[in-house]
Amino acid sequence: MSIKNLDKTFGFATRSVHGGNETDAETGAIRRPITMANSYELPYDPSDINWSSAEGNIYTRNGGANQNYLQEKLRLLHNAEDCVVLASGVAALSGVFFAFLKSGEHAVVSDSTYIAAYRLLHEILPEKYNIESTLVDSSDLDAVKAAVRPNTKLIHIETPANPTLKVSDIRAIAEIAHNAGALLSVDNTFASPYNQRPFELHADLTVESLTKYINGHGDAMGGAVLGPKPLIDKIRAEAMVNLGAAISPFNAWLIMRGAVTLPLRMRQHNESALKVAEFLQSQPSVRFVAYPGLHTHSGNETAKTQMHGGFSGMLAFGLNTDHDGHNRFVSRLKVITSAVSLGHDESLIVFLGENDERQYLYPPEFHAGFFRLSVGLEDAEDLISDLRQAFL
Ligand SMILES: *Cc1c(COP(=O)(O)O)cnc(C)c1O
Repeated sequence: MSIKNLDKTFGFATRSVHGGNETDAETGAIRRPITMANSYELPYDPSDINWSSAEGNIYTRNGGANQNYLQEKLRLLHNAEDCVVLASGVAALSGVFFAFLKSGEHAVVSDSTYIAAYRLLHEILPEKYNIESTLVDSSDLDAVKAAVRPNTKLIHIETPANPTLKVSDIRAIAEIAHNAGALLSVDNTFASPYNQRPFELHADLTVESLTKYINGHGDAMGGAVLGPKPLIDKIRAEAMVNLGAAISPFNAWLIMRGAVTLPLRMRQHNESALKVAEFLQSQPSVRFVAYPGLHTHSGNETAKTQMHGGFSGMLAFGLNTDHDGHNRFVSRLKVITSAVSLGHDESLIVFLGENDERQYLYPPEFHAGFFRLSVGLEDAEDLISDLRQAFL
């Protein structure tokens, strides 16, 4: 069966299951096949084809079958007009920055973001292309307003932010951006479209690292940008066709399969992370816990107005111990794995030490070193026991 014209009148779970899927016309298979070809047959007279076009299937760097199916699923999950999928979340971020910032223009950026957003906007684009940027605590609306300049063309925020879990008010910042004639892009990776859809809060562009919750199984990389068709077309033409950040058809297929269970998985991540955060908060050896779902979190009120379903599976915490004490704690964990990335089925923890180059941008409680924990799909009781025995 296939649902034609699937739209937001269907629930999120129905769109997660059926979005982008149809019966294969050739075989009758009810799942989309993997099309690993890198090129597609040309018409009788190909001489007037625009070889840089992303319309129609010509060459897999210009678009292809599995990319298109995944784009359709993600577009439906975000209630967006259009979507482009790319090789990684960072390809999606650089796609936005390269498409919408020119030499002499300025960007306002959250001071707590994924490291590549910081590297691109704070170092690479300013040094190479004379693009200016201001890092700002985007949980403070006055600070965002004060950072806007006449040449500001883009405000880029992350909420909840990696790795501090700071929460920024998407609706209010969209208004600041639009009053300044700038675009607002929101990195939604920590929330996933199950918990937060920036497009509904008037953001212009939403970025997702598909590597994280949307794929959810830790076995493929991908990225997406969602928004109005003219903006997405520009990213498609520049970042995908000409910068070459195309996703492989196999990865697009894996991510499409993973995304089917997104709502089920997010419900569990939301529930378990809240339990783990509450447990950690009750422990005397825990110095602080940052989780937007806790009433004590400074972003809790804002998070409640723009996140639904829950507050996701990401949290940060620090211990009343020194550098080595933090490493010893991780070495005693048996269920939780020490590795980067997040949003996987398995729980992952990273120690970010006090020497991290961006410490000065983080709130004071982070300065002595902290953990970023991605609460996975194991039994919450097992995760709590694992953390408890590691406090020894
Ligand atoms: C991981 C991550 C990215 C980058 O995604 P990749 O798929 O690793 O390139 C971007 N933003 C956030 C918030 C992330 O956590």
